[in-house]
This record gives sequence, C-alpha cells and structure tokens, in this order.
Amino acid sequence: MQHYTGPIDRLIEQFSKLPGIGRKTAQRLAFHVINMSENDAMMLSKAISDAKQNVRYCSICCNISEGEKCSVCMNESRDGQIVCVVSDPRDVAALERARDFNGRYHVLHGVISPMDGITPEMIRIKELLHRISNEDINEIIMATNPTIEGEATAMYVAKLIKPMGIKVSRIAHGLPVGGDLEYADEVTISKALEGRREL
Ligand SMILES: [Zn+2]
Repeated sequence: MQHYTGPIDRLIEQFSKLPGIGRKTAQRLAFHVINMSENDAMMLSKAISDAKQNVRYCSICCNISEGEKCSVCMNESRDGQIVCVVSDPRDVAALERARDFNGRYHVLHGVISPMDGITPEMIRIKELLHRISNEDINEIIMATNPTIEGEATAMYVAKLIKPMGIKVSRIAHGLPVGGDLEYADEVTISKALEGRREL
C-alpha cells in the first residue's frame, strides 16, 4: 500500500478512525476532499465542528439534543408516564419515524457486554433509575435490540426497576433475532411496540 506524508497522511489517518472505514476507503475519501472545491471542503469541516460543538446529550433522557433538553422532553403533549428505553440515539430516530409512540425515551448509550468490557456502570442506567425516582413514570418499555447483549441488558434493568413498583415490558420479537432496531421498517417497529409483553 502506498505511503503518504504530511497533511494528506493525517487526513487518511483521521478518516480511517471512522467506523467501517478501512485504509483504502480512507485514502479514497482523503483524495476526494483534496479534489473538492475550497468552499465544499470548508462546509464539510464546519459541519463537523458545528455538530461537535452544538450537539449534546439531553439532561433528562440522554438523547442527542441541541439544547439542554431534547425536543421530545420539551414536548408537553408527550406522555411522560411511559418511557421507552433504547441503547442508541439512532433507535430514537427509528421509533420516531414509526410515529406510533407518544411517550418519552431514555437512551442508555450502549448495552451491557462483559465480552467488550462494558459494565452496567458504563451505560446510562443510573440516570434512568434517578428518573424513575423523580418523575411520575408507570411503565418502562425495554426496546434494546434483540441481541444477546440487548436481551441481557433488558433483563438486568427490569430486575432493578420492578421492585420500584413500575411495570416493565419488552418489545415483541417482530424484530429478527440479532436484528437492529435502527434498520427496521416502520410497520415492524409498530408491531414490536404493540406486541410488547410484561417482564
Ligand atoms: Zn430528552
């Protein structure tokens, strides 16, 4: 493989740190940037720094947000008594696309995975428990993905929450095992929510 030095090498290096981008693709992207107009290159760089500076996590549900609270938590017409727990902000986007759910969310930012060294303390479980203690919540829907880690996380959280007198349910398996909520279509998501069972 060809070796580059200086700015182009640094650009390839940065692209290759992105998920799913190998060295070859990183090189292709770097050369694409070099061939862009000055203006397009600046827009790309500005979009990256703007996103980094202006997007943060909602102080309530940990979803991505431009302000202190996200648009769902700010929306008074959403039902705050029912909270859907997901592992990733992209799952919130998927559920919102389905337009079937009118409660609120909680984003864990990961799932428990001993194999990858992810312990319960490393994801936003304590923030969820804090919410349950301080908000008027009566149902938690565990909507982590139907993977081994997603199931284990749902079980773990359910065990913590049930003694608090809260109904805990699990989305149905309209989703294929090992499947990803993020890529599920709207009908599958609606069915999964509708068919949830109590844990
Ligand atoms: Zn929020």
